[in-house]
Amino acid sequence: MNLDEYRRAARAWLRDYARPGESAPENAISHAKDFMARLYDAGYSGITWPARWGGQGLTQAEERAFAAEARHFSLPTYVFSIGLGMTGPTLVDRGTDEQRERFVRPLLRGEEIWCQLFSEPGAGSDVAALQTRAVRDGDRWIVNGQKVWTSVAQHADWGLLLTRTNPDAPKHRGLTMFVVGMRDPGVTVRPLKDMTGRAHFNEVFFDDVAVPDAHRVGEVDDGWSVAVTTLLHERLSISAGVGMGRAKDDPTSLEALRRTADTSDPLVRDDLVELHIRTRALALFNQRLAQEAEAGLFPGARGSAAKLLLAELTLFEADLATRLAGPSAVVGTGDGEGAGPLAHAISLAPAMSLGGGTNEIMRNIIGERVLGLPPGPRVDKTVPFKDLKVGTQG
Ligand SMILES: Cc1cc2nc3c(=O)[nH]c(=O)nc-3n(C[C@H](O)[C@H](O)[C@H](O)COP(=O)(O)OP(=O)(O)OC[C@H]3O[C@@H](n4cnc5c(N)ncnc54)[C@H](O)[C@@H]3O)c2cc1C
Repeated sequence: MNLDEYRRAARAWLRDYARPGESAPENAISHAKDFMARLYDAGYSGITWPARWGGQGLTQAEERAFAAEARHFSLPTYVFSIGLGMTGPTLVDRGTDEQRERFVRPLLRGEEIWCQLFSEPGAGSDVAALQTRAVRDGDRWIVNGQKVWTSVAQHADWGLLLTRTNPDAPKHRGLTMFVVGMRDPGVTVRPLKDMTGRAHFNEVFFDDVAVPDAHRVGEVDDGWSVAVTTLLHERLSISAGVGMGRAKDDPTSLEALRRTADTSDPLVRDDLVELHIRTRALALFNQRLAQEAEAGLFPGARGSAAKLLLAELTLFEADLATRLAGPSAVVGTGDGEGAGPLAHAISLAPAMSLGGGTNEIMRNIIGERVLGLPPGPRVDKTVPFKDLKVGTQG
């Protein structure tokens, strides 16, 4: 099938199975799972993922063709975004064959939902300062600690969990990555309501949770290099909107604002043109990164530039939408009576500048790793973790 045929087939499939502007039904999770299963069976989930592990083994060209068609629909794929964008690619890159065999296909087919358990109350930007401990006990590990900000954990079957296994080593060197069952004994998930009125993320507690050594991803004490793989995928996937199902009916999108704004006002036209330019520039930058990746050139730290551009674009859109809508923008803030989709989108916008790493951290990474500026001082780099005054330690 050539690319035009592929695109036409994708369009026809989407017309049959995804409706434009569809709102989430009551049974949102089972609806999302049914949709993912259909998407997978039709060959549109994991388009570029290796066929050996359940992907379609196609190229970025097909991926982009499908994404271009999908933009006209609201796909209920948000709950799979962590698995598709972050944990799945990490398993493909760094997992064992047994782990790939066991986890990748169910993830792509939406049978299992994934979350990412990195951040803690005392370890966000400085995630290597985390304190959740995993202690070896024969062929298993016993995990104790707390995570926070964990997106979709309340729905998740599995989590990619970064733990400290060697407190005597410097903070980046004593970490190990695991796959943990989110319904296993000792795992407690508590949803946290954010300012949109919904619970996008959770706090997660681990009390003597047993994790088999077969669920370790990468070598013991080498979890930081696995985490870096996840974070690189995270930044690229967030900026490319993987699984976000960003919809035509998003009330802060250019299409929506153009429909409702008074375009006879030259200042409004200026703002809309600015939004168009920023949106297009980011799309082209993402396309370039994807093409480079296909040619074997990993985007590395430049993924942070794409993530930063998206965070700034999201705030610009929300600010513009607020100015154009006036007081009606803030009628209702969440799911309750009278809640407006615009109010929800505006109050969610700042999250993009935090999740996946803050704008300040993206700038640090771009400065050091892309532009080659001198790094900031890191006085704790060689100090054993147990001697650092971080988190609740010391
Ligand atoms: C919507 C959302 C979803 C999320 N989902 C997940 C998830 O699924 N899994 C997960 O593990 N985490 C998740 N996070 C957590 C996210 O990664 C952290 O919030 C983020 O890394 C910042 O950490 P922090 O909140 O602890 O802030 P801090 O690290 O405490 O930062 C506070 C402020 O200090 C600034 N700062 C910190 N260090 C520096 C520095 N070196 N230079 C300059 N400025 C600095 C920061 O930019 C920020 O403004 C999510 C967050 C959000 C908002």
